Amino acid sequence: MSTELFSDSHCHFGDEPLRSAAEEVYRRALEKGVRRFMIPEVHPSDERFIESFASSHEGVCRAFGIHPWAASEWDGKEFSPSSVSRSVRAIGECGLDRLHTSDFELETRLFEAHIALAERLRLPLLVHSLRANSEVLRVLKCHRARGVIHGFSGSFEEAMAFISLGFFLGAGGVITYARAQKTRKTFSRIPLRSILLETDSPAMPLSGFQGEANMPERVPLVAKCLAELRGITVREVSEATEQNFSALFLDGEGS
Ligand SMILES: [Zn+2]
Repeated sequence: MSTELFSDSHCHFGDEPLRSAAEEVYRRALEKGVRRFMIPEVHPSDERFIESFASSHEGVCRAFGIHPWAASEWDGKEFSPSSVSRSVRAIGECGLDRLHTSDFELETRLFEAHIALAERLRLPLLVHSLRANSEVLRVLKCHRARGVIHGFSGSFEEAMAFISLGFFLGAGGVITYARAQKTRKTFSRIPLRSILLETDSPAMPLSGFQGEANMPERVPLVAKCLAELRGITVREVSEATEQNFSALFLDGEGS
């Protein structure tokens, strides 16, 4: 399994415990063949650390955004495209969350502000959708922006609705749990060309690692699980998802 290459399309190097052990976490992931990483922003104050980590480590891409859980830290203004550094490869993490929300209306306005920015800059969105697939779908249908629904969980019909809008779906720890039958079935059926691998580290621990911080080095385990669900080889999963990662985040860069 060590010869295959992988990318973690969603990992929070800006969050503890990854942040203070970032060098070690990065090195261990590389040893497992995980060589590219997309780091979403959660808080506006994360930007400096993530920018300096991304610019000094090969294969590390970063996004610009405010997580829906941090919506109260938003100043309520539209994002200015000129304030986004050219090294940014995606917009997010943004989206809607029906499980943790305190102000769904504010979250929706913040989500719309991210979408407007993504369209202006022609960058993909990193979308968080928790118990809110139909609301997220309703918002995205009104816009041209594309991207990824990260840590997707839901039905085949919901998945295909996102895919028909041009979205990728992020497969993470959820699919490693036998009880997540609906989501496992969805990922066994949707086109491989629409799937990205992710960990959402330090969140979404894999089955067998409950209670531990998740880490990017576990992407190959997500790939193995996806391969088993689909009855294909890990190599096939690696090849397809590597191509998908390049197509979404690195197109136009010659990678
Ligand atoms: Zn996240």
